[in-house]
Parts: sequence; structure tokens; C-alpha cells
Amino acid sequence: MVQKYRMYIAGEWVDADSGETFTSTNPYNGEVWAEFPAGDKTDIDRAVSAARTAFENVWSTTLPGERARIMRQIAAAIGKHAEYLAQIETQDNGKLIREMSAQTKYMVDYYHYFAGAADKIHGEVIPTDKATMFNYTLREPVGVVGAIVPWNSPLLLLSWKLAPALAAGCTMVVKPAEQTSASTLEFVRLVLEATDLPPGVFNVVTGFGPSAGAALAQHPDVNKLAFTGSSQTGKIVAHAAAENHTRLSLELGGKSPNIVFEDANLDNAVNGIMKGIFAATGQTCMAGSRLLVHESVKEELLDKLARRAGQIKMGDPQSMETEMGPVAFKEQLDKIKYYCQKGVEEGATVVTGGKAPTRDDLTSGYFFEPTIFSDLTNQMQIAREEIFGPVLCAIPFSTEEEAIRIANDTPYGLGAGIWTYNIQRAHRLAKAIKAGTVWVNNYRVVSYASPFGGFKASGYGRENGLEAIRDYTQVKSVWIELADRVGDPFTLG
Ligand code: ADP
Repeated sequence: MVQKYRMYIAGEWVDADSGETFTSTNPYNGEVWAEFPAGDKTDIDRAVSAARTAFENVWSTTLPGERARIMRQIAAAIGKHAEYLAQIETQDNGKLIREMSAQTKYMVDYYHYFAGAADKIHGEVIPTDKATMFNYTLREPVGVVGAIVPWNSPLLLLSWKLAPALAAGCTMVVKPAEQTSASTLEFVRLVLEATDLPPGVFNVVTGFGPSAGAALAQHPDVNKLAFTGSSQTGKIVAHAAAENHTRLSLELGGKSPNIVFEDANLDNAVNGIMKGIFAATGQTCMAGSRLLVHESVKEELLDKLARRAGQIKMGDPQSMETEMGPVAFKEQLDKIKYYCQKGVEEGATVVTGGKAPTRDDLTSGYFFEPTIFSDLTNQMQIAREEIFGPVLCAIPFSTEEEAIRIANDTPYGLGAGIWTYNIQRAHRLAKAIKAGTVWVNNYRVVSYASPFGGFKASGYGRENGLEAIRDYTQVKSVWIELADRVGDPFTLG
């Protein structure tokens, strides 16, 4: 049976003004399972207006301790429903239940962390050169936030935005990805409605990127846009934001290197590389999709990797035993196939995988085998463009300088892994690599407490950690004259 959802504006469940709807497909069995309102500009206008009213009249003036109390209610309600929310996400995007349930449980900590920050957002007293003037700053919420979220980790990536926004005193309109709208609406129904969060503070408009998403990005009354998605769409959103001088944070794609030196513990490196490219079927912005391997350990490492990749259990993402599920939707599968074909044409060698599996129980879902290409140059298209699938591109190097050069020879700069026991080299590389996150002897580790974001085409702004608060606040400088004087009216100061 197809489940019918409504969207959430000003504390009410509503259909799209146009009455239009769209559906979502379960990528494991190809079945349509849910239907959503296809919101557009009219609905976005209503939602932004609700968020504006809630911002001006309620949330921006709610005391920080009260905001924190409500955020802790949100944390508690997430804890209660984490398993169900995870199941919904898995049903929508095919990602493993074992990853999604860990993600939804971990979201609890995000709301607690930022609840703790809510009453520690403050300005400073500044000792200036003006003898009779007292100067201080106020750190104020930016206002209404428009969040545009992708399909690969819908609720976690929403929480990276919502938790700091609520702590700062902002209100929000979110446009979830059209492939995965259900969990955000279930989050409202099960979590937010069980709390004292005032109506209008959080609004959801479901719909397509080029209509609802674009209307949100172009809205003149949105004060900040928080976007996670592809670099291509990020560019469109940035153009829209420029029209209204809207603040913007972009968390975009990557082509992150995992760099394995000759002294690395290869078994650990194999685990880290698998974590980087086969977890989540490679559909993560921080995927370690380029393997830079020292030529002296290349054969051994690729042998170990190919053996492990061949043992990955593919199957039903709702089973805790499964290690790799389908990709999220058909266009995504087609894109992966295109790049694999391209890799072969460009002269790369397929070490393992490179095709859709033929096993009976996998043919109705959007499955693709864990794939490793070797004998690449960093100039090949598959080494330069984000594939967003379980496809690893192995590139050999012979010196540390060459490794750094290849690692940085990419338009992107999201993450990098360094595998070595040489502590001096580890720190040298951590500094030399142009990326927002560097992991040494591990990969794909994130925390609510540590800033995450990109260099170069991977975006700007930081999510997580106290850095995130900066993105949702703005600073006001206040001058108080302490003497009974104004000074020369014709000079500055
Ligand atoms: P991907 O599927 O690669 O993550 P997108 O970056 O296109 O792709 O999707 C991320 C989010 O951006 C989704 O919520 C999507 O609906 C939205 N989106 C897509 N196109 C636009 C657009 N033109 N303007 C605003 N948002 C968009």
C-alpha cells in the first residue's frame, strides 16, 4: 500500500497548493511505497512567511535556556524513535539499516551538544583605541534559514543544520530531497510534535529541486541557505543566493584521496579504504574514491582489497547482516555504469567488480558490485569526477612529494586519509593536503563536536562543532559614549 504524506507548514499538515503529488520508490525492490505533495513557489512562500513570523515573534526572543530545554526534548524523542526513523530512511534510499540506525541514534548527541551551546553564544567587550567609548558585540541569530538537503543521509544532514540553527535562535524551512522526503516528515510527526517547539519554527516543503528547491534558494526573505548536495546544484544555489545577498553554506562533492605509504599497516588500511568507498555503497560526499598507493605495496594492497571486496555481503539493506545495499535510485545506477564504461575506455584495469551483480535476489534492486580500478592516471575522467558509487580508483606514487601533488590535483577538497606510522610525515601531509578534513590511520569519522566542510569545489562554511554556530549568527558592534561629548563632526571617530 502506498503511504500518503502531507507536508508541514506553520504547525499544520497540508497538501501542496497545486494539489500535485509525486512518489518515492524503494530501491531494494523497485516498488513505489510513498506519495508526497509536490510543493512549489506558493508553498515555499507560505512556509517562509511562517518561519519569519515565528522568528520575529517567538524563537529569536525565547531565552537560550528555554531553547536548550526544547532541544533536549527533541533529543529524547529521537532516542525513542531512532530505530523506526532509520527503517524509513533505509526503505527510501536503500542504505544499510546498520548504518542508518547508528546515524539516527547518534543524532541524539547532536541536539544535546547544541542545546549545551545555546546559552554560550555571546559577544565580547572590546578594548578599542577610543578612550571614552565602550564597545561590545552582540552575537545574534541570522533569521530564517532555508535548508536544502540530499538523499544519502537525510535526517543526519538535516540535524547538522537544524541543531545549531535552533540553538542560535533561527527558524527553518527545509526542502528534503525528492527521493527521500519521508523521514523528515516522520521526524516532525514523532519527534517535534512531542516537544514544546512552537509552530512555524520548523517547516517542511516537499517537492522537486528545480521548483521547490529553487524557490527556497531564490526567496528574498530567507536570511541564510544551508545546502548539502552536488557541486553542480551548489553552483545554481549560489547564483540564486547572490541575487538577494543571502548568506550561504555549501557542503558539496568530493574526490577524496586515501594515501597509503609503504610503512602503513596494510590490514588497517584495507579496512579504512573499504570504509571510505564501499560503506553506504559509496554514496557519501566524503567517499575516499581515489586510492593513492606507494608503488612498493601496490600489488599486495590491491590483492588484499580485491579479496575483501569480493566477500562483501550484498542484499536486503533492512538486514543487519548486509554489508552493501543497492544504490539509491536508477539514475544513480546509470551514472555509475557510465563511469565504469568510461574507465575501461580510458584504459584503466578492472581489478574486481565493474558491473551489476547477476544473483537472482539482486536483479530487481539497483545493485552494483564493489569495484576497483587500477593502472589509472589522475587525469582520467574517472579519477577526476565524482562517481558517488562503490568505485575505487587506484593510482600509484613513488615519493611523498608526488603523493601530495596527486592528492591536491583535483577540483575538490573535502577529505583525505593518510596511512603511515611515520609521525613527521603524517603531520607534514595533514598540513599539505588541501581538504577540510584529514584522517590519519582511519577514515570517515565525524563528530558533532568537530567542524566539517570543504576546501575548493567541495564548498564553504562549516557544519558541526562550535564553528557551526558562526554560520547561524551574525555579529553586531555596539558603541556607547561614556563622556558627555560627541567630538569633531567632520572627522571619523
Ligand atoms: P544529488 O542527488 O547529487 O545529491 P542535488 O545536489 O541535485 O543532487 O540534490 C541535493 C538537493 O538539492 C535536493 O534536495 C534537490 O532537490 C535539491 N535541488 C536540486 N536542484 C535544485 C535547484 N535547481 N535549486 C535548489 N535546489 C535544488
